[in-house]
Amino acid sequence: MADDTDLTWDDDPLEALAREYARHDEDEDDFAVWTFDTGALDLPPRDPSVTAPPGAFPLEPASGSSPAPALSLPLGRRAAPPPRPPAQSGPASVWWTTVRNVLIVVAAAVLVSTIFSLWTRPNFFSDEFRAGLNKVQATQRVISIQPSPLPTDAHQVRIGIIAGHSGRPQDPSFESDPGAVCPDGLTELSINEAVARQVVTTLSQERYMVDLLTEFDPRLTNYQADVLVSIHTNDCQDYGAAGTGFNAASASARQTTRGKDEKLLACLISQYAATTGLPQHYGLTYDMTEYHTFDEVAIDTPTAIIETGFMGNDRAFLTERQDLIAQGIVNGIRCFLLPDDAGTPVPGS
Ligand SMILES: [Zn+2]
Repeated sequence: MADDTDLTWDDDPLEALAREYARHDEDEDDFAVWTFDTGALDLPPRDPSVTAPPGAFPLEPASGSSPAPALSLPLGRRAAPPPRPPAQSGPASVWWTTVRNVLIVVAAAVLVSTIFSLWTRPNFFSDEFRAGLNKVQATQRVISIQPSPLPTDAHQVRIGIIAGHSGRPQDPSFESDPGAVCPDGLTELSINEAVARQVVTTLSQERYMVDLLTEFDPRLTNYQADVLVSIHTNDCQDYGAAGTGFNAASASARQTTRGKDEKLLACLISQYAATTGLPQHYGLTYDMTEYHTFDEVAIDTPTAIIETGFMGNDRAFLTERQDLIAQGIVNGIRCFLLPDDAGTPVPGS
């Protein structure tokens, strides 16, 4: 052990001793004995009357020592370790400290959550709370569903168009029903059929399911559709200046679908007027308000009848601008089926 020391004679002996002891490997026995040569030290002769205070190292000559006495230190107690050098405070140290703290937090979180889940009973939350949670999750699923535009395969929008007076008359004694007839032979039926065909063609191109129906079509019994419009034209009589414009009506007696009927009627009137430019004629007849088809179709089929114009004063328009007449009716139906398109007529298209 003495060979490992690096004492210099300039050192204070006790300080050197303490320093050497500090170098002592901590794994060594607490009761190790140090022996080193004190021959060169100029120690005064020992006074036997002087006793060391309690806790002080007793100095005893090592046994078998020769002229150069040896200092023997039975170490009953380890001296206080020297202060450690200050911890490194550089960036590397900060980084390592941070990483270590994060790892500790993560490990603690994993441990706590594992313990919590192990100890959580399936009925930890009340039935009421879980019911509310399910409701929230279900609501989120509903909201996430994207609405699909109409018409869809799930519900094919069905539209019925009646060409007024077409088909076999109700009275079997008549071969056909031309409707109103002008002196020169112009028939209401010819105008109604031409307009109805254009309406059906246009709506079919918009991928609606459209039925072209005759006046007394057997299919009209309990007919179910999203909308049904019957197309007629006013007669050729001379009503003076008042004999111009269009009429429209819905069933006066049907109460169950009154709201839908009125909405359809409002759309037809506003869109037809805006598209054709024809004025609305307010003289409604019994044949319109009590139109026979109103009583035949299903009670929840919105139904309306329109008189497109007067064959006298409006004759030129009825025979030359049937495209606008048809478009006015189409716009009225689209207004009813697609409320967002209300007020956007497409004149002349
Ligand atoms: Zn008619």
